[in-house]
Amino acid sequence: MAANSVLAPFRSGRHDHGHCIEDALKAAETVCRDRGLRLTELRRQVLEMVWTEHRPVRAYDLLDRLRETRGRAAPPTIYRALDFLRDQGLVHRIESLNAYIGCGSPLSQHSGQFLICRECSAVAELDDPAIEKLIKKRANDAGFQVVGQTIEITGLCPQCSGGDESSSPGSENALSEHA
Ligand SMILES: [Zn+2]
Ligand SMILES: [Zn+2]
Ligand SMILES: [Zn+2]
Repeated sequence: MAANSVLAPFRSGRHDHGHCIEDALKAAETVCRDRGLRLTELRRQVLEMVWTEHRPVRAYDLLDRLRETRGRAAPPTIYRALDFLRDQGLVHRIESLNAYIGCGSPLSQHSGQFLICRECSAVAELDDPAIEKLIKKRANDAGFQVVGQTIEITGLCPQCSGGDESSSPGSENALSEHA
């Protein structure tokens, strides 16, 4: 039961990441087509960049990368594209990291429950309607009307807690990104 609530698991050393990006772009096309919206080249490019590392990424890092292909890109360019992707549920903003991550299931309606590794900033996304319902109920009890829910839970991912033996220590150092 619990396994079904994982929308996007932690990135493991062996997963086929090419598929992640492909699936994300396909889902984005579907979402935009169904809603009569345009997945412009820029929006598509930003979404692809968000998914590149399969980990949270900051707007300014995205802007740096965008400038490699679009020399004059200004900050509003990236923020407008991110706002669009976020409004359509294609990316989520992780407030505690001030960063964005691709949604693991943009075609389904869900509130965000995120497990965030405090060592390497890896993020997994859960969707458990029971959690959402309980929060709504407790909030209503307090006379509070819930508009949106994003829950950020801090801890250690399987790799950093030593639970994932498939990866050798130091093989993937989050702090030294060489993309
Ligand atoms: Zn991936
Ligand atoms: Zn999501
Ligand atoms: Zn970690």
